[in-house]
Amino acid sequence: MKRYAIGVDLGGTVVKIGLVSEGRVIDRATLEADSGNGLRCRLPLIVDRIETLLAVHQVSREEFAGIGFCFPGLADSDTGRVVSTNAKYDDAVEIDIEAWAQSVYGGEFYIDNDARMAVVGEWKYGAGRGSDNVVAMTIGTGIGCGVVIEGRLLQGVHHQAGCLGGHLIVDYRGRRCSCGNVGCAEASASSFFLNDIVQESNPQFYREHAPFDFRKIFTMAREGNEVARKICEECMDVWAAAIVNLIHAYDPEIVVISGGIMRSADLILPYLRWRVASLAWTPWGEVRIEASTLMDDAGILGAVECVMNKNRK
Ligand SMILES: [Zn+2]
Repeated sequence: MKRYAIGVDLGGTVVKIGLVSEGRVIDRATLEADSGNGLRCRLPLIVDRIETLLAVHQVSREEFAGIGFCFPGLADSDTGRVVSTNAKYDDAVEIDIEAWAQSVYGGEFYIDNDARMAVVGEWKYGAGRGSDNVVAMTIGTGIGCGVVIEGRLLQGVHHQAGCLGGHLIVDYRGRRCSCGNVGCAEASASSFFLNDIVQESNPQFYREHAPFDFRKIFTMAREGNEVARKICEECMDVWAAAIVNLIHAYDPEIVVISGGIMRSADLILPYLRWRVASLAWTPWGEVRIEASTLMDDAGILGAVECVMNKNRK
């Protein structure tokens, strides 16, 4: 029986590899991503980690279902090809990753956008379990998004439906985003842009305390720093605006939030719940806003779920 599969989450700074069985990550390995230098040079290292995991757990070929990839860009899960990148693994568009995976292990192969894989993980095994209408949003270096509607992963005709939630526009006169657009949620409140945001908001505060990450600025806000509190509130307003847009677009029952910012979930979740409830047009009630229960494992579990589905067909 094919009860083992590998999930590979190609993050911007770390590649996470998980051996999954029956909806649980039973062992894992990581390697430095060096994503600015492309994917090709990482593939031999990924093979090495996977072989080690399979050997340690004595997984036979008969038990091995395949490999699922979470990619930080747009991917076409039908053709198994990466379609578009944004400064991470830019050579992936030219690589036949499926042929590579099959030449090494055989088994099924699946690749899709990383945040979209995370929503599948949350829907099947995490905070979204029990609901068939789930939006997941990952807030970190960038902002990722994935959508399940009426029990189906939303793909769209060009495989980009639902996964560009970080590039919903929250301020059309705002900052230029890395995607080329202006005023995206990601450009207005993500780790990648946080230092720009603080510098523009309060140059003196920036000079005194730079560099910033969300952990640092939320800690300062928690300790009563008024400038930090105001900047944190502006970022949370941006996330709330993006969530309201997602609610209006997709009509979910639950929005699952993950990413590094959830270290400050005790501050962020109550604020987002209050703000979204007061702004969203949902006459039937309130959309639940919950923290991810899987965090880093969500994408790996989602990608493996998609591999298992191909095995079932
Ligand atoms: Zn953008």
